[in-house]
Amino acid sequence: MIPKSFIQDLLNRLDIVDVVGRYVPLKKAGANFSACCPFHNEKSPSFTVSASKQFYHCFGCGVHGTAISFVMEHLGLSFVEAVEELARGIGLNVPRETSVNAAMPSRAAPDLYELMQTAVRYYREQLKQSQPAIDYLKRRGVSGEVAARFGMGYAPEGWQNLRQPFADYQSSSLLDTGLVIEREDDATGEQNGQSTARRYDRFRDRIMFPIVNARGQVIGFGGRVLDKGTPKYLNSPETVLFEKGRELYGLYQAQKAIRANRIALVVEGYMDVVALAQHGIEYAVATLGTATTPFHIQKLLRLTDRVVFCFDGDAAGRRAAWRALENTLPQLVDGKQFGFLFLPAEHDPDSYVREHGKEAFEKLQRESMPLSGYLLNELSKQVDMHTQEGKSALLKLAQPLLTSITAPIAALLLRKELAALAGVSQVELEVLYGMESIAIPKRRVTQKIASPAASNLRALLRCLLFKPDLARQLPADWEMHGPEADTIAALAEWLLSQEEPVSTAAIIQHFQETAHANLLAKEQAEILQLGDAFNAEDEFLDVLKSLRKAQRKQEFDTLNAKIRGTGMGGLSEQERALYLQLSRRD
Ligand SMILES: [Zn+2]
Repeated sequence: MIPKSFIQDLLNRLDIVDVVGRYVPLKKAGANFSACCPFHNEKSPSFTVSASKQFYHCFGCGVHGTAISFVMEHLGLSFVEAVEELARGIGLNVPRETSVNAAMPSRAAPDLYELMQTAVRYYREQLKQSQPAIDYLKRRGVSGEVAARFGMGYAPEGWQNLRQPFADYQSSSLLDTGLVIEREDDATGEQNGQSTARRYDRFRDRIMFPIVNARGQVIGFGGRVLDKGTPKYLNSPETVLFEKGRELYGLYQAQKAIRANRIALVVEGYMDVVALAQHGIEYAVATLGTATTPFHIQKLLRLTDRVVFCFDGDAAGRRAAWRALENTLPQLVDGKQFGFLFLPAEHDPDSYVREHGKEAFEKLQRESMPLSGYLLNELSKQVDMHTQEGKSALLKLAQPLLTSITAPIAALLLRKELAALAGVSQVELEVLYGMESIAIPKRRVTQKIASPAASNLRALLRCLLFKPDLARQLPADWEMHGPEADTIAALAEWLLSQEEPVSTAAIIQHFQETAHANLLAKEQAEILQLGDAFNAEDEFLDVLKSLRKAQRKQEFDTLNAKIRGTGMGGLSEQERALYLQLSRRD
């Protein structure tokens, strides 16, 4: 765990204008900076960065956050990776709260990254000297340029070739990288009379594909046999550097193209990624011997709105596609699209693009099956859709899948489609599944009509965000209700618990994953349009006054109603005192 105080410190030292400016050309616009939004397609700039408040907001697509969230979204990094990246940029070391798991990688990491880099250089050098390996790549149509783009190399035949680049072949760090293996039993060692014989290279006589993280550091390798031999593909084991379920092969190289083409293509093998890049399709990534995981999907959705899965045409490929679908459903976000592309049974992406070329491949991709179509199609195939029994079986099969979707629009559309297919109404389907009905239009109406109290509360919230210090002036007996009031209470409570003054960026970061995030983002966006001359304190006191006045009026009205019913005698002593006090005021 990274200490919270460090996050605040980091945000205070960073300048978001610098951070964003590294990736997006910013122009001064009044008190703020603006640019065309890097997260959605637009012609006139609605992406705004506030230098004084240290956050960004897009008035087009609503993205909102701090320097940390920008780096996460833009580079597709995790929170910890983004913090490390930003801290390194200003020469800070990221401290860790003591937790065995979290502390280990950071202590071991720098050293291991260097070892990996040494191995990359060694394997690349070996590739230049191995005619069989060069011939193999030539046969597969891989140019020197593409081989270099992916840092491809060759691990020669033999058991201890890595003694050459690594003087200390016995070091425990080398074992930690997964580049060498140690035999469990030491029978061989004894035969040799040398304990050193127990250690040997993991990759032998294989084309080497470095696996790179989002920051461009090599964290593992994939190795493919040249011709025959098993296993065909061999990956680095999981190490402190490399966690299979979180990494995608080729993502580092593909990032730019994914953004530019607004699509990410997920394939099964490294050779698919390389062959596609060779043919000008540079936005492909591959899973690393695992099914597509929720992490993979989240990573890709940070970069693009459209993900297409393209697996081999064989049975294994179809199974992989279904697993991808199952893991995608809970990650669905409205406005994001998923497609499933199925190649003819005899093809994989590598062979298809080599035989038919880029255009044919991209045509297939455009025609890929949408997620809902694929889901319903696959399920329908498992039952007899001509009978009532079949339709009821379909509903049963679809239930766990449909209930795993949380995105409202996607869920609504899929429920409608499934209901129509099974010959029931959407409401019947929802009752059957015990689901709450989705009624999107209703929600919108309630959102639009804001009570006068709510708009006053929002004004109050804006003042607090503009000048967090004002939390001290909030009445201690704050007793308002509703979402705005709850957010104000939560914000004030947190602000008052902080020892140091708090920046707007720190507020965003703290509340990012909470129920208050949306409301806060909305009001922070309003702040961008207020000038720095905005007098938050005066406004704050004015709003408090009118809130108090409204509250008094309400209490007075309630007491009056009671008096009309029961006379003054019906009031308690306390109520009578309050009534007198209220009637004296105005
Ligand atoms: Zn935008």
